[in-house]
Amino acid sequence: MKDNNESIRTIGEFNLIESIKEHFPVPAGVTGIGDDCAVLPQKSGRETLVTTDMLMEGVHFLMEDADPYDLGWKSAAVNISDIAAMGGVPVGTFLSFALPKTLTGAWVERFIEGYKAVSDLSGTPLLGGDTTSSLDRLCINVTVLGECQAGASRKRSAAVPGDLICTTGYLGDSAGGLQVILDEAAGRKEARTDDEKELVRRHYQPVPRVSEGVVLAGTEGVHAMMDISDGVGSDLRHILKASGVSAVIDVSSIPVSDELKRSAESRGWNVSELALNGGEDYELLFTISPEAERNLAVRHFVIGRITEGLNPGGVTWEGTDKEFKGFHHF
Ligand code: ADP
Ligand code: MG
Repeated sequence: MKDNNESIRTIGEFNLIESIKEHFPVPAGVTGIGDDCAVLPQKSGRETLVTTDMLMEGVHFLMEDADPYDLGWKSAAVNISDIAAMGGVPVGTFLSFALPKTLTGAWVERFIEGYKAVSDLSGTPLLGGDTTSSLDRLCINVTVLGECQAGASRKRSAAVPGDLICTTGYLGDSAGGLQVILDEAAGRKEARTDDEKELVRRHYQPVPRVSEGVVLAGTEGVHAMMDISDGVGSDLRHILKASGVSAVIDVSSIPVSDELKRSAESRGWNVSELALNGGEDYELLFTISPEAERNLAVRHFVIGRITEGLNPGGVTWEGTDKEFKGFHHF
């Protein structure tokens, strides 16, 4: 680290990871730090994918409002989503947690039920992990192994000018759900509408787009891919920087659910803000040649296009005077 006295808040998450990365040259043929998964080629002609993520009480969830079932669901889902983001098939997960001593057995049981629901829907067994006590807060770490055909995994670095930029689903539902939760924490008393209940459910129970990812990785003309965890405003820039290109996003074409539209209208939310800055939708964000897009066998929405990298990483937001930067952790 160049200046060790600088706080992590000023250094920022991505610079911090960059400075760690500098110490570890990547072995030939391997994709290491910087994508949704590490990619390790195997002699069998397949690739192994590995990803790991941490969920921290107070940062990713609040113990008071998190149903253990939802937390178990989300812990498995967000990690399996990173395998989907590469177009891989998840083959197994490892679950480690540091548990405060006051937590009950019933709590852990509910957590595992939620975790298992996602394991079942994505066909990914739990194969191991680690359990320890925590002095204070709950901390959860999940690692997932996946695999795909050699060369089939889709990296963030493969976008080319002329590509269309697409998502596999609606954006902003999770952020809308979070807003409902935050408003209540700030004292809002009104009962949730059915729409709002649905948004909260999508916040707590995202569905990893595994089968969509596999089809996309099997489709010629699909270039860069990742999952949307921090919002398009932030995540798209990873693709642009890694590929050395820029993008134009048509803000009016961002797909938004009816539940979010109606809730935003009654609560005065800015829909584009939620859809592009709010994260955790876990839809796939990918770039594809216009020819391949015409016959694509997966539900998708075109939201923009890749342009020459005169200003690599730069995004032009068409139809608005706003800028969207996504969610940042520090
Ligand atoms: P995602 O949101 O897809 O989980 P992250 O933003 O967490 O990705 O991480 C980006 C990249 O940096 C990934 O390749 C991840 O493996 C790597 N990374 C994150 N933290 C560390 C760390 N402490 N040491 C090494 N690599 C890290
Ligand atoms: Mg990711």
